[in-house]
Amino acid sequence: MASRRLSTLLSRSLSFPSASAFLGWKYGVERGIQRFSTAAAVEELVSPGVEVKYTQHIINGKFVDSASGKTFPTLDPRTEEVITHVAEGEAEDINRAVAAARKAFDEGPWPKMSAYERSRIMLKFADLVEKHTDELATLETWDNGKPYEQAAKSELPMIVRLFHYYAGWADKIHGLTVPADGPHHVQTLHEPIGVAGQIIPWNFPLAMFAWKVGPALATGNTVVLKTAEQTPLTALYAGKLFHEAGLPPGVLNIVSGYGPTAGAALASHMEVDKLAFTGSTDTGKIVLELAAKSNLKPVTLELGGKSPFIICDDANIDRAVEDAHFALFFNQGQCCCAGSRTYVHERIYDEFVEKAKARAMRRVVGDPFKKGVEQGPQIDSEQFEKVLRYIRSGKESGATLECGGDRIGSKGYFIQPTIFSDVKEDMLIAQDEIFGPVQCVLKFKDIDEVIKRANNTHYGLAAGVYTSDIDKANTLARGLRAGTVWINCYDVFDATIPFGGYKMSGIGREKGVYSLNNYLQVKAVVTPLKNPAWI
Ligand code: ADP
Repeated sequence: MASRRLSTLLSRSLSFPSASAFLGWKYGVERGIQRFSTAAAVEELVSPGVEVKYTQHIINGKFVDSASGKTFPTLDPRTEEVITHVAEGEAEDINRAVAAARKAFDEGPWPKMSAYERSRIMLKFADLVEKHTDELATLETWDNGKPYEQAAKSELPMIVRLFHYYAGWADKIHGLTVPADGPHHVQTLHEPIGVAGQIIPWNFPLAMFAWKVGPALATGNTVVLKTAEQTPLTALYAGKLFHEAGLPPGVLNIVSGYGPTAGAALASHMEVDKLAFTGSTDTGKIVLELAAKSNLKPVTLELGGKSPFIICDDANIDRAVEDAHFALFFNQGQCCCAGSRTYVHERIYDEFVEKAKARAMRRVVGDPFKKGVEQGPQIDSEQFEKVLRYIRSGKESGATLECGGDRIGSKGYFIQPTIFSDVKEDMLIAQDEIFGPVQCVLKFKDIDEVIKRANNTHYGLAAGVYTSDIDKANTLARGLRAGTVWINCYDVFDATIPFGGYKMSGIGREKGVYSLNNYLQVKAVVTPLKNPAWI
């Protein structure tokens, strides 16, 4: 059923007239006309072909309405139209969800269940996600605007892999025997921390669900997850599948709602033992403060970035152009780790700019459900307007607009792939996180200088390095203050690779073995040894 729908969808999109509209734009730009009429592309949309089944919160294993009865709309960013209305959670709903998670933690069975049993439920869930890839990817594209092919072929498989990975950890978590001085037997127990509150953003709704929920459940915690108000749909679907896989009630509670109401209630809740947040640096500061002012719950934060992508003069330039393009434009430029400052050595600068421009002009923008589309709409009007403001700022500050620079069509949040060259360090577009399809290209002369400039930011999430010289690669990898350095590649994500930020890009690491500690307490157990012969 799923694959039939997918093939229908893809064959429908193959015959779509808009492909020529894209080519028209591409060739129009290449002739220097710089105009893009997407009227056809944007108006004739593929129908997602699935119905939205789940719009209520999941609390204590059941779908429930908000205590207030309120709902809010979630929009299709292709059309700006309402997809459906979703229960709007507020403090009272968070209270109910935390009470359910508290009970499931304090009374079990989740933390008391054998680790093997927990692992089996997580594996079963991963199998269900795999089976329902088409529905989940379709909902993700509909709610978020990301290309369907990206969601289905790249993100969903990574999510399945991540749950396999953390299911594998469940029965491998154990403490140590400690060689203390004196007649004592000392052991450490690695225990779940309790009720985990998790707040996730809209740019990768299901992937963020996985990064947060995977390690929390593997270590025996219970969870209250608040999704982003722009993208509530897929987590509810995934929550349903988790219960189908045998998750006991109260272990995973999912509340939809807005940040200052539902999110703030979760961050400041006295019965929440740990908070994990992904979002903007400004909101990260707010939730850290709420956690501190309530019960001092430990907080992990994955925040914004302005990541440098450094291309040395000995790099394979064509590959660097392609990866720098991907690093910035992937997911409509809506990545916290977007390679948003492209530093290019002066010797290859002009060649790089020409090739980067040609690549951006070839970028296929349009209905994300259509085959071959690389870029869909931005998430909502707020982000759309923000990106256009930064484009205006780039123009006004004297950077050279190489291509793009405008919206596409008159409906939906589509923006042309945009490149600025001659970008200077003090321009706003070189300093702020734009979170959109705007590549800023800067020129550098030598390695020491570019390390200083790349580090001259409050952020430190990621960096890219392109060179064929191992010594330069090592110097840059060690010199850059960032949580990830990709060398001759970018955005390589894997369940096993830790991710997180230096400086104002965050606190702590997610994924890999590092994420487990976020959800564990260490208890020292000390027992006297009575028989001196065995001390
Ligand atoms: P963006 O500005 O990109 O939407 P945010 O950091 O504001 O990013 O949002 C990330 C997540 O944080 C979302 O789930 C959002 O609802 C939540 N959020 C926003 N404001 C608050 C707040 N004051 N307290 C708690 N959570 C919040």
